[in-house]
Amino acid sequence: MNWMEKELEMMTDASLERTLRASAPLPGCPGYIMRGGRKLLDLSSNDYLGLAQHYAINEAMREAQSAEGAGSGASRLVMGNRPSFGRLETVLALWQNCEAALVFANGYMANTGVIAALAGRGDVVFSDQMNHASIVDGIILSRAEHARYRHNDMEHLRALLNKHRDKKKKLIVTDAVFSMDGDQAPLRELAAIKREYGAMLMVDEAHSGGIYGRRGEGLCHELGVQADVDVHMGTFSKAFGVYGAYVCGSRTLIRWLINKARTLIYSTALPASIVAGIAKALELVQTEHWRRERLNAAGRRLRSSLGAAGFNIAAGDSPIIPVIIGDNAAVLRFSSALEAAGIASAAIRPPTVPKGTARIRFSLSAAHTERELADAAALICAAALQSGVAGG
Ligand code: PMP
Repeated sequence: MNWMEKELEMMTDASLERTLRASAPLPGCPGYIMRGGRKLLDLSSNDYLGLAQHYAINEAMREAQSAEGAGSGASRLVMGNRPSFGRLETVLALWQNCEAALVFANGYMANTGVIAALAGRGDVVFSDQMNHASIVDGIILSRAEHARYRHNDMEHLRALLNKHRDKKKKLIVTDAVFSMDGDQAPLRELAAIKREYGAMLMVDEAHSGGIYGRRGEGLCHELGVQADVDVHMGTFSKAFGVYGAYVCGSRTLIRWLINKARTLIYSTALPASIVAGIAKALELVQTEHWRRERLNAAGRRLRSSLGAAGFNIAAGDSPIIPVIIGDNAAVLRFSSALEAAGIASAAIRPPTVPKGTARIRFSLSAAHTERELADAAALICAAALQSGVAGG
């Protein structure tokens, strides 16, 4: 096992080692966490709509757990398919305006399971170079050829589609909002390209579900391309504040996945409490528009104040605001200075992002107030000065 220690040492020297730090939620105080005995403003979680501590969601989960117990006991295809799954999937399909829906244990398993079920040897998957790791892993698992196109570069995608014209099945996959940059995929162009080349199109709405669309359906609905998208995927762990994931599409697609998605077939069903929590969160996501409005306004304000302070911020309009620092050691210094100032932030380094683009990934929540974010902007500038990084 010596090789491990050597490689870990090299990672530490390059400021690339990751460690697990305990972050406890503060009951009744969404938007904050406790770390090392201190209350910190949480500026890096994905609880976009501030639902993770919602009393009605918690109550629904408690009730389901009292009624149905802790675990589901088996895969959905064996005995674990509680009646609440079917009820939730009916509502999900209606919400997404699709024929059918399927709930997965989480987004990682939805992406890996779905991609490996849709493509195999002799097929090709076209994937944006900034797509989430779960998409990349799904492609590896599928054994299909991985045609990686430059970020949001539709000319490059076309060139790759031309090169692979003769392949049996073609699947184009993209994040709707990219998790580490906060920018959007050109979904209208992707829909046109998919039609032109007879490819399938899958969109991951992990960071756009709940945030875009009139009822939080996601970016495909916001841009009016939902009918062109063959596979709608999203997670319940971010804007929904719970856990789990969905896939929506045609009845045939869902029938196929029930038979072929190995991450669904060979893994225990979510507990009933989680399904109940998701169902309650879906009601709130659809109806509490003020959460989306508040989140989007907060995003615009923090973006513009950090931009005006001279930070290098990736373009976009989402609640994900990446401040690009570049150097790995510098981003860790900056994150420590932020923590000393009362802000919990994630220092994102390679391989999650390309070399030389280490960053602080700020992400906002509807739980944050205007005052808190204005104070945070000033603290961020001061922490940048103190840690000797650009901006501030
Ligand atoms: N897709 C994207 C774009 C993500 O950012 C994530 C989570 N980071 C996932 C999928 C995986 O979702 P989950 O956390 O539910 O496994």
